[in-house]
Amino acid sequence: MKITQPDAIDGSTALIVADVQYSFMAGGSLAVPGGDEVVPVINALAKRFANVILTQDWHPPGHGSFASSHSGSEPFDTIALDYGDQILWPDHCVQGSEGARLHRDLDISHAQLVLRKGYHKGVDSYSAFIEADGTTRTGLASYLRERGIASIYVCGLATDFCVAWTALDARKLGFAATVIEDACRAIDTQGSLASAWERMESAGVRRVRSTDLP
Ligand SMILES: [Zn+2]
Repeated sequence: MKITQPDAIDGSTALIVADVQYSFMAGGSLAVPGGDEVVPVINALAKRFANVILTQDWHPPGHGSFASSHSGSEPFDTIALDYGDQILWPDHCVQGSEGARLHRDLDISHAQLVLRKGYHKGVDSYSAFIEADGTTRTGLASYLRERGIASIYVCGLATDFCVAWTALDARKLGFAATVIEDACRAIDTQGSLASAWERMESAGVRRVRSTDLP
């Protein structure tokens, strides 16, 4: 495991809090093991950052990432869609539903942007930057650049999907990226967690614990 010194937390740094929503909590339709445990860690962490962005998975009913939208498919099957392989999930984070709400115990009132993603019916979006088709942009990169932000820290749910894909796309788009491991929890299906850490390490994503922060 590679740990390198993270960037200083200042005005050119932002914390991205991925998908801390009820569908991913205990009792939710796509509960991430230990998902609730990230909330107090993230609350403490967020106080250190002037710039905080929350992401919110925000799917229309019948979204293409839902197993229920593909007859004969079960959750966690992988199918080929136009843009590549897609893991199918239980219905989750449907726009306006309780499952889509951000956790009420998140205490980050100074967050500046809530970025919704996954709202195109036929395309998933784990990443906060680029949808799963690899081309459709969410606008986040331009937002960060206009605000003079060059380095992002990522936490939230889930390590091996929305956190990892956000950090990987950040690197691809020229940002420094650091994942705060103890402020994340993983789904870990079909070896996804090990593979996500491998890809992040080779892309130069830094891996730290919240206690390592400067
Ligand atoms: Zn989703």
